[in-house]
Amino acid sequence: MYLEINQRNYPSKINKPVVVICLDGSQKEYLDRASQSKLTPNLDKIVKEGEFILAHSAIPSFTNPNNISIVTGQPSAVHGICGNFFYTPSTNKEVMMNDPQYLRAPTIFQKFYEQGSKIAVITAKDKLRSLLGNGLNYNENRAICFSSEKSDQTTIEQNGIEKVNEWLNMPVPEVYSQGLSEFVMKAGVKILNEFKPDIMYLSTTDFIQHKYEPGHEIANQFYQMFDDNIGLLNDNDISLVITADHGMKAKTNINGDPNAIFLEDLLKEKFPQENFKVILPITDPYVVHHGSLGSFAMIYVENQSLISNVVAEIQKVPEIEEVMNKQEACSAYHLPEDRSGDIICMSSESFTIGSSKSKHDLSSLKEPLRSHGGLHEREVPFILNSTKSDITNQGQIYNYDAFYYATHMANK
Ligand SMILES: [Zn+2]
Repeated sequence: MYLEINQRNYPSKINKPVVVICLDGSQKEYLDRASQSKLTPNLDKIVKEGEFILAHSAIPSFTNPNNISIVTGQPSAVHGICGNFFYTPSTNKEVMMNDPQYLRAPTIFQKFYEQGSKIAVITAKDKLRSLLGNGLNYNENRAICFSSEKSDQTTIEQNGIEKVNEWLNMPVPEVYSQGLSEFVMKAGVKILNEFKPDIMYLSTTDFIQHKYEPGHEIANQFYQMFDDNIGLLNDNDISLVITADHGMKAKTNINGDPNAIFLEDLLKEKFPQENFKVILPITDPYVVHHGSLGSFAMIYVENQSLISNVVAEIQKVPEIEEVMNKQEACSAYHLPEDRSGDIICMSSESFTIGSSKSKHDLSSLKEPLRSHGGLHEREVPFILNSTKSDITNQGQIYNYDAFYYATHMANK
């Protein structure tokens, strides 16, 4: 018996709790370095008894598109969320996409909930909460969805749980801290034991990964904290998949200054009479740790007859690795055409793309820039706590296959 969700078949009967964790910004090297320092015994045991493969993220390798891909099982061409916001040239409006009205597909949670399952979803940042919780009903004691960021504002009506801070004995963490992710993990352990969900999703935040490279003492502390909680989760008989929304790479020159190509400035210089709008879908209200610089950009070209000339001009820039018109890019990377620019660009491994230099305030960047968004950050860990999935014979795996494999393992 299968439950069809967004053209994929999930087993409608699962025999143990399914737990999927999106470990934000966790480039494989973070796990490797923490393991080499012997800080992750529980994770090491899971990998030994299960599988550790490398999957691809959805493109752009940003947080929201990938979280929503993971919870719908499909890329953004299907669910519509391809960045933090999209631009409409006819109205000259930039619209934030953190509201469920922009979601074009049901979540796996909603579909399992409708057939009677118990669901728990915990996210670090509140910007994802309403998308992740869309379609859940909190008045039947079968669904919980909240963020650690706004854990002090939870109500039964909106979140299925209240007084979270007292319950967990943890105050609201600082938004820029490891605490936000630690809160998610600790709450996940407690909810698994007390609420006993059929399906649980935990989504951390990449504050630590934006600031510290793999093997850094503070990064290692983060993975040690993660490992402690993974051990407590995996003490239960669960079907577990750990993956990431995207990787994370250093984007600086040898002096530690950000490496960025400012595309709007470059195009203005080459085509002084023309108008361009460069959209950076990484931009969000939490810009402190990346200054809105990522490795993916969309360009809107006012004079449509110029598109192929502009593509040709950008192809000359060595730091831009991938430049395509909308149709090519949407087909290659499964993006929604109506929310994509006329041209899509991705930068090289150590570069980012900006709009205009004057529009980026980099003064709040305290550490050397680390960021993501392009092809070099799409390789992500994909860890399963069992070998029952036959995953190694399945060709390219995506992070948005996480619930597919976790539910199938739970059905065995
Ligand atoms: Zn992220």
